[in-house]
Amino acid sequence: MTRLAFQVIATASGSRARAARFSTLHGDVETPLFMPVGTHATVKGLSPEDLEAAGARILLANAYHLLLRPGVEVFARVGGIHRFMNWPGAVLTDSGGYQVFSLADDRVVTEDGAVFRSYVDGARIALSPERSIATQLAIGSDVLMAMDECIASTSDYATAAAAMHRTHRWAARSLAARGDAPQALFGIVQGACFDDLRRESAEHLVRLPFDGYAIGGLAVGESKAERERCTALVTALLPEHLPRYLMGVGTPLDLLEAVDRGVDMFDCTMPSILAKQGVAFTSGGRLNLYRGVYKLADAALDARCGCATCGQYSRAYLHHLTKTDEPWGGSSSPATTCASTPTSRPRCGSTSSPAPSRPTVTRNARSSAGATTSIRPSWRRVAVSVATTRRSPGSPFAARRRATRPSCTACRAK
Ligand SMILES: [Zn+2]
Repeated sequence: MTRLAFQVIATASGSRARAARFSTLHGDVETPLFMPVGTHATVKGLSPEDLEAAGARILLANAYHLLLRPGVEVFARVGGIHRFMNWPGAVLTDSGGYQVFSLADDRVVTEDGAVFRSYVDGARIALSPERSIATQLAIGSDVLMAMDECIASTSDYATAAAAMHRTHRWAARSLAARGDAPQALFGIVQGACFDDLRRESAEHLVRLPFDGYAIGGLAVGESKAERERCTALVTALLPEHLPRYLMGVGTPLDLLEAVDRGVDMFDCTMPSILAKQGVAFTSGGRLNLYRGVYKLADAALDARCGCATCGQYSRAYLHHLTKTDEPWGGSSSPATTCASTPTSRPRCGSTSSPAPSRPTVTRNARSSAGATTSIRPSWRRVAVSVATTRRSPGSPFAARRRATRPSCTACRAK
């Protein structure tokens, strides 16, 4: 039995899609799922209560950013990220490897790890596999990610092979660093877009005692066809009894394509990024709420969606909020509150459709210009809601939410 007690509930016929459930130290989650991205221990424009109401049960946070600010000493002092941000559900933390690759200036990557300059205060920071695990444990994450060496997916063969082999060595170090801690740890398959490297990476990592496996190094420059080919190749090599996580993906159709190929978990910053542009995904297609055509539109954003926003607010009002760039956040806001939430659950069984059920993904937002990492107050109501997968009205968090902020033995164990 692994730490997550991953259990496949049903599988689709004619596809590799599957519905599953696993248990974390902060509750059970059902897959396929999309993790809202709370890089800095907050999801842009949404309160934890918004996320809970929308059905999210697991968030993604990032060890790289949280290491730099507020710093692990804050989590150690307050008892972990759940209590810090008042989020009673599960948290998965990225290791920081990707951010070192994509964000860090002046970085040097060696066998020991990466050294880079902090964007907060310019200090030199060393991030090794061991420090990444220690940081994620201090944060109080439920699912840790092993640090990997990320490269562009379009890298040449020699570069990809070297990074993959280093990632394998770092995977073993990450497992040793995690030790007997109760948190789950995922290994990350690398190998760019080379089939033999992807195969070698998956076959190597599945021999190590990880609690789940991620497919990394995609959605960073390759074509859609390459991504889908690599995804199918890797998922076919990963164990049936453990979760599979495709990192950094993606659009609603990308999610469906990957679910069809056997992926269980996703994350992507795209909801926040597109939300800044006033984009909404609905069951009828993609909308841009900036467009004047919605000025007099009294209809719901998506009549098939059961979320609070679609049930209570018109396209005209959402257009107005978008055009006026109204700063508006918090759980009391009657704004566009659809939260990032699990994606499609496949309709499974011998008599059902071979394809996963098509999710209604609704995303809307109001925004001003600015980077996602801007510290200026800019409000985005990001919405990804799935009409076909609305959970029951009662939240499993209710029993665990208390008058005070949540606490748990895992958080206290620091
Ligand atoms: Zn909705």
